[in-house]
Amino acid sequence: LGPTITAGEILVEIMSTSIGAGFLEPQPLIGPFPSGAPAIFIDQVAKLGSPAGIISAVGDDDFGRLNIERLKRDGADVSAIEILSDMPTGSAFVRYREDGNRDFVFNIAKSASGMIRMTDGARELVERAGHVHVMGSAFAIPGIAEILMESVAAVKSRGGSVSFDPNIRKELLTGQADARKRLDQILGVTDLLLPSGEELAIAAGLDDEDAAVASLLASGISEIVLKRGAQGSSCLVSGKRFDCPAFIVEEVDPTGAGDCFGATYVTCRRQGRPHDEALRYANAAGARTVTRRGPMEGVSSFAELDEFIQANRSDI
Ligand code: ADP
Repeated sequence: LGPTITAGEILVEIMSTSIGAGFLEPQPLIGPFPSGAPAIFIDQVAKLGSPAGIISAVGDDDFGRLNIERLKRDGADVSAIEILSDMPTGSAFVRYREDGNRDFVFNIAKSASGMIRMTDGARELVERAGHVHVMGSAFAIPGIAEILMESVAAVKSRGGSVSFDPNIRKELLTGQADARKRLDQILGVTDLLLPSGEELAIAAGLDDEDAAVASLLASGISEIVLKRGAQGSSCLVSGKRFDCPAFIVEEVDPTGAGDCFGATYVTCRRQGRPHDEALRYANAAGARTVTRRGPMEGVSSFAELDEFIQANRSDI
């Protein structure tokens, strides 16, 4: 199998250890933790022992080194991560509110992550790749759409496949003709779609779940996996549906669940595992992630997932 690849932001996350609103008073913080949805995804694929690489950029600083060391340690290909001498690595400060919502202070646009380019190293990775995972969150980065679409075209022309995690919010699409156009462009090349929450309805332009699924499957997407947080997940393919209940765990930090879930599902399917087995492993990976503080701290190997599945009951 050629590597699974993606392109997008690499960050550090620094989080408040107290619950409350914002950063307007001094407060205890914990971090830096390696982060960035595309980096979490690729780290999880690598941790499962499958080849994985990311097109990205970091600064020549400890935040960048922390990320590169973690990705390397877990087995990811870091050859397409450019190290920029004149830009810091991106960062996100996060604090949870009482109701579970989060406040962020981001530095992404004016960081190395805002400067990702198709370097020679990136091209070389794309030439070997067998699968491209597209993440909606990355589209905030200038030029990333072009890098992803170029990668998709190259991989598809060799018979490779594409997965897409929309990661979109309705508010962000309203009045943005470009965003809708781009969404339709990616949906047109997607084999496996991984929506959560209202993203299925947004993608299909239809509120009814059955109608949305039918319309997307008819448009050429071969597999839709719905992420339902603590309600588990479902897989829909033409004429068939698989449902998998969530594992019952205590949620400590939900960041990264969807990325680890998606990475595990994509990897299992690329390895030829059946839908229900892929769903179960993905549910376990998502659940295990939320039990650990830090976005990339809960990535799992197959041995860890097997152990987790043995030890934890799912809500059947
Ligand atoms: P996203 O982060 O993309 O919104 P979800 O929050 O739906 O995605 O999480 C992805 C998957 O992780 C879920 O489908 C589920 O399998 C697992 N998961 C997430 N939160 C929990 C939780 N609190 N308990 C158990 N499993 C969870």
